[in-house]
Amino acid sequence: MNRRPGGISAVRSDPGSLQWAAMLSVAEAEQRVAEAVGPLPTEDCALLNAHGRVLRQPLVADRDLPPFDRVAMDGYALRHAAWAAGLRRWRVAGLQPAGAIPLAVPADDACIEVMTGAALPRGADTVVPYEDVVREGDFVTLAPDRKLEAGQAVHRRGSDRAAGAVIVTPGVRLGGVEIAVAAACGYAHLTVTQQPKIAVVATGDELVEVGAAVAPHQIRRSNDYALRAMLLAAGHPQVERYHLRDLRQEIEHRLWHLVAEYDVVLLAGGVSKGKFDFVPQVLDALGVRKVFQGVAQRPGKPFWFGLSPRRTPVFALPGNPVSCCVCLHRYVRPALARMSGLPAAAPLHARLAERLAVRPPLTAFVPVKLAPDAGPERRAVPVAANTSGDFASLAGSDGFVELPAGGGEFPAGAAVRFWPWA
Ligand code: AMP
Ligand code: MG
Repeated sequence: MNRRPGGISAVRSDPGSLQWAAMLSVAEAEQRVAEAVGPLPTEDCALLNAHGRVLRQPLVADRDLPPFDRVAMDGYALRHAAWAAGLRRWRVAGLQPAGAIPLAVPADDACIEVMTGAALPRGADTVVPYEDVVREGDFVTLAPDRKLEAGQAVHRRGSDRAAGAVIVTPGVRLGGVEIAVAAACGYAHLTVTQQPKIAVVATGDELVEVGAAVAPHQIRRSNDYALRAMLLAAGHPQVERYHLRDLRQEIEHRLWHLVAEYDVVLLAGGVSKGKFDFVPQVLDALGVRKVFQGVAQRPGKPFWFGLSPRRTPVFALPGNPVSCCVCLHRYVRPALARMSGLPAAAPLHARLAERLAVRPPLTAFVPVKLAPDAGPERRAVPVAANTSGDFASLAGSDGFVELPAGGGEFPAGAAVRFWPWA
């Protein structure tokens, strides 16, 4: 596979230390990631499997839409001019279901019984629905109070779109509507973005697989499960989980393969300043070039991002569960959307339901629950959490709000960016 993400701008000198002043702002970090990743190549996908994939070709009407003058109600097709001339009773000269080759109306005082979806019989221009006539034998009589409009209940050929019109432009995730357009326009196969193969790698000697015996000093792996689930929910189904112990050689050996095999590598843990946080040095040894480490944000300060020699993006997220999830949504998901060929999503906002005070001058990410009574506006109720290790408090939250750097007071009612978990 020869995947070539877009170009990357000149990388600034290392922040060196993780002092606040030296760290990138959230916006800078976001920008660096965006510059480093570009759309993955395309592949062919059968229409039947294309739901949820990102379209990379325009969908063009191959014929007029509708392709013929289409009967829009069950009833009788006739000539409007005959009614305008005073006629109120017609002879039924034939029956034409949908899918049949169109019949012809033989005379002014004749009509053809037609079904919705049929092509308008030749010589007719107007359809009278069943409910407006009385039928006796082979004759129909118009109800006395009924007026006919020329062309009524006829869906004119090309009135929706002319042949050659672009109906869907590239860069959309295919849902039912786009699939319907594709099917209607004859696309049995679609050109879509390849799905990124994502490795989610938990690091840490303390981690134990769920279901295995856990000693009092150990914890169960939850981050990689969380990241995988969130990625699946975001439309990225090709996710594999791995676990590396805090052994430099093991990390180096296994990461070498993972970085070579996957389109995106997502590490969780081992990226801070601890004695056994080997991830940054190993990535460096493997030639994964650091684009930045350290973002002026809380949680998630130690966040590291780099590119392999093949330009595979490597995200090393802090291991604390809240940091990990926040960084996934704030940086990784937008990067994956970009790699998938989607345009940048419009930011979402919410109003704070209560006052929030932030001490350090970092961008703060605060888990919130959306108030159910807010009507058309989102009202974000902060969720009390202990630390960025407090995963339990996230249960029942809907996402997080982003309080801009600088610290201080954010009054109730302040509009802030909102990042939903799903
Ligand atoms: P680290 O970033 O490796 O220093 O880890 C920070 C904290 O997150 C530690 O308390 C770890 O035990 C915890 N942690 C790291 N990885 C995971 C994981 N996969 N699941 C749950 N907690 C984790
Ligand atoms: Mg660790």
